[in-house]
Amino acid sequence: KANNIKNAKPIETLNSVKCVIAIASGKGGVGKSSTTVNLAIALSQKGLKVGIMDADIYGPSIPHMLDLKGKVEVRDHKLIPMTAWGISAISIGMLVPTNQAVIWRGPMVMGAVKQLLSDVKWGELDIMLIDMPPGTGDVQITLGQSIKLDGAIMVSTPQDIALLDAKRGISLFQKTRTPILGIIENMSYFLCPRCQEKTYIFGQDGVKKEAKALNIPFLGEIPILPAIRTASDEGIPITVQQPDGPESQAYHAIADLI
Ligand code: ADP
Repeated sequence: KANNIKNAKPIETLNSVKCVIAIASGKGGVGKSSTTVNLAIALSQKGLKVGIMDADIYGPSIPHMLDLKGKVEVRDHKLIPMTAWGISAISIGMLVPTNQAVIWRGPMVMGAVKQLLSDVKWGELDIMLIDMPPGTGDVQITLGQSIKLDGAIMVSTPQDIALLDAKRGISLFQKTRTPILGIIENMSYFLCPRCQEKTYIFGQDGVKKEAKALNIPFLGEIPILPAIRTASDEGIPITVQQPDGPESQAYHAIADLI
């Protein structure tokens, strides 16, 4: 159950949300948003009601990845999430023009996060995934102070630097006593479309070993595939285009662990 944290004003709109999980990364470009979207769809294909809150205020990519255009409907002073491929989503990108870079100071960013938390009429949800901005800034702190997350999942690429940044993110969640559900390695290997052979471009098991050292569950490896990227760019995620294909297998396997 999504609990509101002690001393913080309860967020009524989250009462109908059973579980809130943050998807985070230490740095940008590791595939956090595309992993969030594909995991959300994989979870909904298992019969769960899933929502995505795009907390990446400076770089909201969820509307584009779900091909959601236009503005959000407002009813009874509440924002109504948009829906695509069976999931609900809300993003700052639906409230301000996406071609306009968001150049906001901390207090405005925090205000936007609070609005996305408290002014959205989600209805009944089994799981809400929060697509966090990369790093450890204002949004992470505001969220940590406003709600009790049921868990956090880190996304990292195999490169050492991404992993190092991921460790910083993990320690932030540990400080707010958020259970770390695990770490996902994205862009682990290239899967040959002809022979299905795996090529570990950046070395094998880097994130897995680190997860073990940090005593955090390792949730799985996602291949680096052109089809995953083009699907995201087209706004029709790979889990929608090829739900049973080898490209989507990793997302289903991880969804089964959540
Ligand atoms: P982040 O949210 O971490 O900034 P994105 O999800 O926006 O990262 O991904 C960055 C880019 O990499 C996007 O163009 C996305 O389509 C692509 N991408 C992410 N994961 C994969 C993958 N497993 N295979 C191929 N391309 C990927």
